[in-house]
Formats: sequence, structure tokens, C-alpha cells
Amino acid sequence: AFEAEPRRGILHPGGAGRVPLGLKRKGLRVVVTGGAGFVGSHLVDRLLARGDSVIVVDNLFTGRKENVLHHAGNPNFEMIRHDVVEPILLEVDQIYHLACPASPVHYKHNPVKTIKTNVVGTLNMLGLAKRVGARFLLTSTSEVYGDPLQHPQVETYWGNVNPIGVRSCYDEGKRTAETLTMDYHRGANLEVRIARIFNTYGPRMCIDDGRVVSNFVAQALRKEPLTVYGDGKQTRSFQYVSDLVEGLMKLMEGEHVGPFNLGNPGEFTMLELAKVVQDTIDPNARIEFRPNTADDPHKRKPDISRAKDLLGWEPKISLKKGLPLMVQDFRNRIFGDQKDANA
Ligand code: NAD
Ligand code: UDP
Ligand code: UDP
Repeated sequence: AFEAEPRRGILHPGGAGRVPLGLKRKGLRVVVTGGAGFVGSHLVDRLLARGDSVIVVDNLFTGRKENVLHHAGNPNFEMIRHDVVEPILLEVDQIYHLACPASPVHYKHNPVKTIKTNVVGTLNMLGLAKRVGARFLLTSTSEVYGDPLQHPQVETYWGNVNPIGVRSCYDEGKRTAETLTMDYHRGANLEVRIARIFNTYGPRMCIDDGRVVSNFVAQALRKEPLTVYGDGKQTRSFQYVSDLVEGLMKLMEGEHVGPFNLGNPGEFTMLELAKVVQDTIDPNARIEFRPNTADDPHKRKPDISRAKDLLGWEPKISLKKGLPLMVQDFRNRIFGDQKDANA
């Protein structure tokens, strides 16, 4: 039914997503792969709110129907259960390509599938973008910097990645996805955008996905000890999901290919993060030390000068402001009250 609708975007061959400056944009037809996941579902909310038609393509490996259920019945929304490793034919103006498990627990679960999703899945979405002349945005990751020898990380840094470790399916998969994206850009003249996303948190994160923010919040709510891996002195920078979505949309609509770091430069050790969680949820929450996982990057903090200069973007929500915004959602889901789960 969707294909029968008139093409409403401003279209021209080889660059369907372009909106000439000064013209009010019309609703576009947008594919969000991985749109039933944590980040994707927040992006879908924003795209629908501004009047776009959205097709979610998701195999529901780590995504949940509940994340987009509030759009059921909206004629501008459609969800296709589909694995991006298989080809698909769609007619659209823009593709946000997010499909890929993001948490280490999930992407290590089936590493070969993770690589296939990143390589074959990205190839298929690029082939689709080429066929219909859609603009394509890849959500890459700060993990392309590996265990970085430069701090903070600038986009021009090539990274320090182990090609044969347990994280490689994700790190090297995303690096290859970036390569494919640039090769389609250069070889097929495709309009592409690359975002390198740093650790992001917020409502609708998987509760038991093993990532540090979701772990600590769920543990504090369940009155379990907060599990700090290693000595807890490793650092990460935590970005609230609405800041990321804003950055992704500015990147897609802007004129620059990237790659762009999208993250919050506030840097915290895991022990500092545990303290913020204690302050927010339960000052009496205990901390328990556990052995760290292999290849864990020691430090991570984005240099976001490029996104500030060229996209006019920077995050607005600090960890202390953002953390309470996900706690209510976790409380509802953990203790079974679904009422406000999508608030
Ligand atoms: P998520 O696991 O919540 O979402 C990923 C979505 O992709 C899920 O809905 C899942 O079902 C879907 N998916 C996975 N494999 C698929 C396949 N083969 N075919 C179709 N759908 C598939 O993760 P997220 O945190 O929302 O991450 C979204 C994107 O952002 C990912 O590409 C991830 O690598 C990237 N990213 C996220 C973070 C972060 O901190 N959240 C950091 C860096 C990069
Ligand atoms: N593809 C797709 N949908 C499309 C167009 C292409 O899924 O609308 C897939 C196609 O099956 C192929 C991949 O994208 O596996 C790359 O397509 P491209 O045309 O770039 O390369 P080719 O098919 O010539 O190898
Ligand atoms: N971590 C932790 N306790 C947990 C889960 C993770 O101390 O319960 C640490 C982990 O060792 C890493 C950091 O938190 O140093 C971030 O891990 P996460 O899996 O959230 O993301 P990534 O390693 O991909 O940045």
C-alpha cells in the first residue's frame, strides 16, 4: 500500500534526500533500519512528529515491538520484520541505517551474524540507496577507534583496533561498513553521511543488555550491588539519546559527509558513574568489583569540534540531568507497570 502513494519528497536523480536551501521541506519517505531498537525508536518518534513517512525495517533481534507500538494505526508509520542481511526493495528518499546489535553482550552472542549484519546488511542498504537515489546515513561507532592511543578522539584518528579479538566482529564490522559507505559515495556518487556514535543511554534501552548504564540503573532499582568491572578507573562519555537523535537528523539534513563524532564530551570513570547512579536512585547501593572483559578500551571521550563547527550541534543534557529521565522508564518496566513505558 505504501508504494502506491504518490512520491511526496523533493526528488531528483542521484540525491533524493536533498532539500534546496530556503525551501520548506515536505514530508519525506524515510527508512529506519533497526527502528524498533533503543536509538532507532526515538529517531522514529521525531521523524513522524515532523511529518515524514517512516518505514521501520527490523528483525527484532534486540529491538522490541513495544518501542514503536504507540505508532500503530498512524498511516505514516509502517514496520517490516526483515533481516537486512537479505535484499529488500523499497522506494524511499532517505535511509537511516542503524540495524546492528550495539551492546557487547548482544554482538558477541553471534559474532558471525554481527559481521554479516555490518557488512552484507550495509551493502544491501547501500545497494537500495543507489537504486532509488536515496541519501544514506550510517550509524558507526566510537569503537572504530578501538583502545585509542589518542585522547580525546578526533575523526582524523585511524584507531587502534584488534582485528582478531572478541570485540572485532563489531569494531571491524563497523569499520568495513564505513569503507563500503565511502566506496559507494565515491564510486556510485551516492549521497552518504557517517556518524560515529559514543556511548548513549536513555529510556527504552534493553534492561539486561549488559551495558554499564543499564546495568547500574537496573541493579540500583533492584537493590542489587552495582557491578564495577576491573578497577573502575576506565572512562566513557555518556550521551543522552535525544541529543544523539538531534545530531543524526542535523547530519542527514546537512551538506557534510563526515565522519562526525556524536557524543557528550563529559568524561566519567565507572566509579564516578556509580556515584551518579547512587545519588540519583539509592545512596546506599553497594559497589561490587568484577574482573574486566577482554579488550576493554581504557579511555573514551569524543572531540566534537567538527560537529559543532559544521553541523551547529552539541549535546545539551548532562549525565546528572539525563540519568533521572531513564530511571522512571526502567522502574516501570522492571516492576511491571507499563503505563508510562513510552513516555
Ligand atoms: P539496539 O540493539 O537497541 O538496536 C539495534 C536494532 O537493530 C534492534 O532493533 C535490532 O533488532 C535491529 N537489528 C539487529 N540486527 C538486525 C538485522 N540483521 N536486520 C534487521 N534488524 C536488525 O541498539 P542501539 O543502541 O539502538 O543502536 C543503534 C545503532 O547505533 C547500532 O548500529 C549501533 O551500532 C549504533 N551505536 C549505538 C551506540 C549506543 O551507545 N547505543 C553507540 C555506538 C553506536
Ligand atoms: N539491493 C537491495 N535492494 C535494492 C537494490 C540492491 O537489497 O533495492 C542489494 C542487492 O541485492 C545487492 C546489494 O544491495 O546484494 C548491492 O547492490 P548493488 O546494486 O550495489 O550491487 P550488485 O547487485 O551489482 O552487486
Ligand atoms: N562495565 C562495568 N560494569 C558493568 C558493565 C560494564 O563496569 O556492569 C564497564 C565496562 O567494563 C566498560 C564500561 O563499563 O569499561 C562501558 O561498557 P559498556 O559495555 O557499557 O560499553 P562499551 O564498552 O561498548 O563502551
